[in-house]
Amino acid sequence: MSRQNPEQSDALRRSNDLRRWREEQYTRRARSQAWLMDRASGGSGRLRSWQLRVLPRPTRCGWPLTGTSIRLHDGKAYIAGSEHCANPWCCPICTPIIRSRRARDLRTAIERWTAIEEHGLWFVTLTVPHVKSDSLDELLPLVSTAWSRMRGSQAWRRYARDYAIEHYVRAAEITWSAQHGWHPHLHILLFVAGRTAPDRKRITEMWADSLHAIAPGRKAPSKRHGVLLEEANGSPILAAYLAKTPDKRRDIASEVVRGDRKQSRNDDGINPLQLLDDDVQARLGPDKAQRLWCEYVDATYRKRSITWSRNLRQAMGIDGDEPTDEQIIQRSVHGIPVIDLTTEAYRMLRTTPSIHAYVLQRIEDGEIPVALQVIDECTAPARN
Ligand SMILES: [Zn+2]
Repeated sequence: MSRQNPEQSDALRRSNDLRRWREEQYTRRARSQAWLMDRASGGSGRLRSWQLRVLPRPTRCGWPLTGTSIRLHDGKAYIAGSEHCANPWCCPICTPIIRSRRARDLRTAIERWTAIEEHGLWFVTLTVPHVKSDSLDELLPLVSTAWSRMRGSQAWRRYARDYAIEHYVRAAEITWSAQHGWHPHLHILLFVAGRTAPDRKRITEMWADSLHAIAPGRKAPSKRHGVLLEEANGSPILAAYLAKTPDKRRDIASEVVRGDRKQSRNDDGINPLQLLDDDVQARLGPDKAQRLWCEYVDATYRKRSITWSRNLRQAMGIDGDEPTDEQIIQRSVHGIPVIDLTTEAYRMLRTTPSIHAYVLQRIEDGEIPVALQVIDECTAPARN
């Protein structure tokens, strides 16, 4: 047997990691779609045509539009000719594409900002007190609105002046835990033109005031844990963290991102996409997992995941307007056609995550005849 050099084995490991990752995402997507359709049909499994049209878009992600084909773009294989939902929260396929693209811009902004010695970066986490019975539909708008209000206030303007805060990026994150329920929170990256550390106490006061103004009946955020502040040091890890790129060790490449990251159980809770995984369903029971998933899909509908302060892109010399989620997805699907798929072949791939992931891997590794053979064999009607 021939020995592989380290570079080859590295490439093989990455290729296998990517295949496994894809298989997991396709499996998640199938689960999500089954649950959303089940809900729409009231459990009967039958949908009328008008009901099909009003399904949440992630339910239709991957449905064939015209003739489908497998294409290659920058060495990555993907299927063209099918619908993409461009959802930045709850699509196992589109969400990572969108977030990785945003992470890339953010990395550029951070690098350019920190190229100037006196510039600092601070990382603020804003949370609200919540109980298990709070709905996500209530909590998510609460944190977003409280931040908008705080950011627009006189107090914040004064604060920004005092600490030379010139720009910010805001990323919303949602976790869920059995103990505490939904936990939406905001990560704010502050671009500071100076060396003075921002004052956490003042942010905590402004945050409490703002929350109180919107929801006077709610418990005030904890003085100790309601607002966290840490120096970000301009590390690319931070960009990765904000946009949920994969950790460096696995490096499934900067483009396969997370929003899908697995989190340990005793941490802040799970990433909602994990509700689609077998192990989490086994723990919660499938009915509860389905209910929570549907709640997540509904509550994040049309909510932005990441926003930049107005002049940041321009100040960092990043060309063009911020692309929409839709534009990011559209731009990611312009490759060279490799294999045209029949309706049956496409259906087979869509319903068999392991083969789907395997076929794309073979194409990326340059083994198109193998990919074709697999498609043929798995699509051919059973021979007697
Ligand atoms: Zn999608």
